[in-house]
Amino acid sequence: METREFFINEEEEPPGQHSISKNLSSLRSESRRTYRFPISHESEKFQKAFFPDSTRNEWNDWHWQLRNRIRRLDQLSTYFDLTMDEIVAVLRHRGTLPLSITPYYASLISPIDPAQPLRRTVVPVTAEYTRSRGEAEDPLAEDHNSPVEGIVHRYPDRVLFLVTNFCSTNCRYCTRSRFVCGKQDQTRIKQRWQQGIEYIENTPQVRDVLVSGGDPLTLSDEKIEWLLSRLRRIPHVEMIRIGTKVPVVLPQRITTNLTRILKRYHPLWMSIHFTHPEELTLETSTACNRLADAGIPLGSQTVLLSGINDNVETMKALMHGLLRIRVKPYYLYQCDPILGSAHFRTPVEKGLEMIKGLRGHTSGYAVPSYVIDAPGGGGKIPLLPEYVVGRNGDDLVLRNYEGRVFSYPDCTGDSCDTSGEPAQTFEYASADHSDSYKESR
Ligand code: SF4
Repeated sequence: METREFFINEEEEPPGQHSISKNLSSLRSESRRTYRFPISHESEKFQKAFFPDSTRNEWNDWHWQLRNRIRRLDQLSTYFDLTMDEIVAVLRHRGTLPLSITPYYASLISPIDPAQPLRRTVVPVTAEYTRSRGEAEDPLAEDHNSPVEGIVHRYPDRVLFLVTNFCSTNCRYCTRSRFVCGKQDQTRIKQRWQQGIEYIENTPQVRDVLVSGGDPLTLSDEKIEWLLSRLRRIPHVEMIRIGTKVPVVLPQRITTNLTRILKRYHPLWMSIHFTHPEELTLETSTACNRLADAGIPLGSQTVLLSGINDNVETMKALMHGLLRIRVKPYYLYQCDPILGSAHFRTPVEKGLEMIKGLRGHTSGYAVPSYVIDAPGGGGKIPLLPEYVVGRNGDDLVLRNYEGRVFSYPDCTGDSCDTSGEPAQTFEYASADHSDSYKESR
């Protein structure tokens, strides 16, 4: 049985420990027993085909995954049958948001189908070089709302803290495509963070800090701990959130040591970027369960993408799958109009169709909020299908998920009298419960 195989030490005992008494040794090893990271069948096949010399431990080492990222055309063409359009797009690329895919995420991608949803999210196509109306490098005007480098302060009580410009796997529709680079920019990293921390310290209305990037979970354990410990020392910071796609593209990063660090800084929340049900693998599920077991409330953020997840069945499968791995669907985003994103964007009507197809048809927990992040820096604006039909006197007329119409008496107290129907007094049908009350005492 697979689970038995995984119950071995993740952190090996150092050699030369045999002199320790047997009881003590077995107690220690018992306490250090951890669930080794699994490898799903598909990923194992990929590993054997393309990394035949790698060991299981190497594959499951997140540093190995980062070192072996697919970054060049020759690597990409080894794994996938590329279209001419994909080849041209990779060759043409300059600047930020370079090609970058972890071997693990590549193992989920179809080698032959250029229209496969996951492939479309990470393999460039030439449509990225077409600028359409309304597109901009920084559509959310984050740079205009940045009082110091790395801080975006748009809403009164919370800030976005961009702590790195690096991601393990680069999404072609990334809102911060202007900013995401091919390697961690280590220069003055702590000084830059210190500036951000000082801004937060000096801004007492900030009670919520969203640590994002890039992907903060690509930083070392030591850096993450340094950052969280500094933020936690600020008395007015009530909660810290981390925005990440690591559990989806580099789940091996969620080590027991990382979760031990994270759980020291509660209340700590996490927003995880999911796109498609094919991302819900054994590895991702293990990563999310580890985080949830560390007491971290998990929410998902999903960008609505044309031909990728813009049909109700796919969206429902994703939302249901997320709840199974203890992630609450949080936001469904309308895709931001970054440069060259028209091939990813859907009409807003599509997003409303997703919500209509979920609300009432499945558990309320499975329904995210559909929002547009307003271009120009207006913040998130929620969008809902037309559930309010109108008013009929004091009644609010509503349409339910089946399209049936209902009235709700939308008046209270004195305001109800204006309808012309005077309020009537009545008595509740009473029953004498005094005996049963006495008996139960
Ligand atoms: S994980 Fe997030 S920040 Fe990184 S490339 Fe994807 S969308 Fe951009």
